[in-house]
Amino acid sequence: MTATHRLLRGAIFTCVDDPGEENTPLPGTTRYWDDGAIWIVDGHIQAVDDHAALIGRVPAETEHVDYRGKLMMPGFIDSHVHYVQLDIMAAYGRELLDWLNDYTFPAECRFAEQAHAEASAERFLDEMLRAGTTTAQVFCSSHPVSVDSFFAAAQRRRLRMIAGKVLMDRHAPAALVDDTLGGIRDSERLIADWHGRDRLSYTLTPRFAPTSSAEQLDAVGGVLRNAPDLYLQTHLSENRGEIAWVSELFPESRDYLGVYEDHGLVGPRSTFAHGIHLDDEQRRRLAAEGANIAFCPTSNLFLGSGLMDRLACRDAGLATSLASDVGGGTSLSGFGTLQGAYQVGALLGQPLTGWQGFYRLTLGNARALHLADRIGSLEPGQEADIVVLDPEATPLLSRRLSQTGSLAERLFAMMMLGDDRTVAATWADGRRVHQRP
Ligand SMILES: [Zn+2]
Repeated sequence: MTATHRLLRGAIFTCVDDPGEENTPLPGTTRYWDDGAIWIVDGHIQAVDDHAALIGRVPAETEHVDYRGKLMMPGFIDSHVHYVQLDIMAAYGRELLDWLNDYTFPAECRFAEQAHAEASAERFLDEMLRAGTTTAQVFCSSHPVSVDSFFAAAQRRRLRMIAGKVLMDRHAPAALVDDTLGGIRDSERLIADWHGRDRLSYTLTPRFAPTSSAEQLDAVGGVLRNAPDLYLQTHLSENRGEIAWVSELFPESRDYLGVYEDHGLVGPRSTFAHGIHLDDEQRRRLAAEGANIAFCPTSNLFLGSGLMDRLACRDAGLATSLASDVGGGTSLSGFGTLQGAYQVGALLGQPLTGWQGFYRLTLGNARALHLADRIGSLEPGQEADIVVLDPEATPLLSRRLSQTGSLAERLFAMMMLGDDRTVAATWADGRRVHQRP
């Protein structure tokens, strides 16, 4: 079969390293082309350069796509999101534990039904691609069919996705509770069927310490020890009531994080959502194992959970990723997440720059998820996952951007004013998977 060549022409912005926290990026960390081009061969990037430099190099049969006036970036990444909670976004007036009982668990019960799971997975992926998000680490429900449905839908669209079956063997409705070891056997079957298949990876998914017995957490640790290329995702220190409950349930552990440590769940491929109420010593313990905290600003603001101190994590050497945490979060859009992160940062005296924001949403998240050799930047050899942004998406955005003088100002204004309307198209695996109507 002959290779398919495509050349996407337009402005291009990519990070190739962490630009730092200042409003001038560290030297050599970012790249920008005003009239650039991305040469894609099948699913991979062959070259990125000035359009004038590439136009003479591509073969005659190349398909040319004109995105002049647009800005191309690596596809956005979401390190923590619940696809099964789309239908309860923006449900009124609860904090974490009541929110779970009143809204989340009833919604997740519906995922026992295959037709509901399949339709929801498609709807979720439509929304992600509309928002320019091409990779996510996803919580399914405790029903294996919710995971099969999600992976099958992602595979058909040739997306790079990480997902897992929720494990819960207590403190949840009977319809969602696993048999302690049955839940592990279901996870092992799903790992055998999906992990490493095409662009899919499996993530072990105990919801959080209160809904798993020590025996179940131990079994998860055992699976992880035997297959260190698996991911693990759970929640940590989101809310004061939750923390107090964990200390009652696990009095023998030194603290909430200690519960996960005691069962072998803290490693370089572990993502802990929230981590708001941590002290420096806990941050250093997480950093020592190479784990990352998924910072979920719109969720933290919506549920009133607290303000995540991103720079305290950085100072402790602890990686943070950025995430929507829908349905606790109020936006699936990476722009919504960045706007929330800016607002939380502003309240803590650490306002996020456009450079750092777009770095976190792309290469930063790819690094936290150990995927930076495949996605997160626009460089030769990378998988061709690309978001095409429209600086003229709305009259207001167009007007505001016309008043900017530097790329720093332009990126920042776009970060704060952008939304799903700003996403003109989304590409994954070298093919267009979304086109704004
Ligand atoms: Zn969550």
